[in-house]
Amino acid sequence: MLNNQIKLLSAIKELKPELLAISHAIHSRPELGNREFFALQTLTTFLQEKGWQVKSGAGGLPTSFVAYQGEGKRPAVAFLAEYDALPEIGHGCGHNLICTASLGAAEALHRVMKGKGGEIRVIGTPAEETTGGKIPLLKDGLFADLDAVMMFHPGISNVIHFSSLALEALEVTFSGKAGHSAVLKNTWGDSLQALLKFFFWLGDWKKLLPQYCQVDGVIIEGGSVPNVRPAQTKARFYLRALEEKTLDLLMKEFILQAQSIAENTGTRVIVAPFEARYLPFKSNETLAKVFVQSLRHLKIKTAIENCQALGSMDIGNVSQKVPAIHPYLTLENGPSMLHTAEFAQAVGGPWGDELLILAAQALALTGFKVLNKEYLRSRIKAEHQKHMESSFNVIG
Ligand SMILES: [Zn+2]
Repeated sequence: MLNNQIKLLSAIKELKPELLAISHAIHSRPELGNREFFALQTLTTFLQEKGWQVKSGAGGLPTSFVAYQGEGKRPAVAFLAEYDALPEIGHGCGHNLICTASLGAAEALHRVMKGKGGEIRVIGTPAEETTGGKIPLLKDGLFADLDAVMMFHPGISNVIHFSSLALEALEVTFSGKAGHSAVLKNTWGDSLQALLKFFFWLGDWKKLLPQYCQVDGVIIEGGSVPNVRPAQTKARFYLRALEEKTLDLLMKEFILQAQSIAENTGTRVIVAPFEARYLPFKSNETLAKVFVQSLRHLKIKTAIENCQALGSMDIGNVSQKVPAIHPYLTLENGPSMLHTAEFAQAVGGPWGDELLILAAQALALTGFKVLNKEYLRSRIKAEHQKHMESSFNVIG
């Protein structure tokens, strides 16, 4: 084992110049979700040159890809690559580090595993910041039959094991009577009044919701000039809860209230999802512990703490199907907040370079243990199955 650990780390050392070059190239050409063609080209070229079997366009997504070594062999692990950026601030979420760390871990693991069996997969998952590329890829079977799925995310602290919230994205459209505002004397049939009433109700409702239940919304269509009453108004909302069953209850009350306001204002209402539902992310604790051991081997001391994140992520849906981890890692003197220009700058410089190599090493060491220790795989699987049995009402 020790010998193999040394081999893994030296493989990453060998790959370091290439990995840093890829990270810098993707960082300097930030692309929004579903338009990451430069990143797709850069990542898949690296893999193809190293003999990986690469397919792109899975799940109907033009910028997704999957790369295999030992396709169909078992056991199997996958490393996830995210590579989309944010408008205006570029790689303010550091996805250039995520994809390159996964690439480095996968290739190093492949070099050390040669002839030992097992499958290694790299899954390129576009549009994490917007439409959640992992969900169509999951439906397309790209995550089938995996013993472990892993990735890392640059962060502001080391958080290895956590859960995230389930999320439903709903669009509410009120329609009513359009016309000259000065002529239509009363507010009966006024779609803007209906939408405003709905927002006022939400303000009160939010105060009564239990912990971890959240509702946030914005008006996206509310008329354009004061003397024309709009025929319809629209708003978009994110509803979040710890579990899907709570989310379903929230949705029910939300829709009932929208309908009741429509009735009382002489308008009609349609409530419909505008993005796929995100399921809660359940980090696999056994796998997370192996990752912590890998970090210790790399002289990074951190412990498993069970945290509840307030956001939602598309890896949530993956984690309900196969065991997964999504650890956040940082180094000293790092940026203080994600999605900022400061973060974008850090992930393109020496701080990001060092973090990327550390993450690639930790992922490779973890992947090696999963592929080579059967007892570990059965513990990971048993934990996952236990979770699946205990959480009913899971879709995906
Ligand atoms: Zn991110």
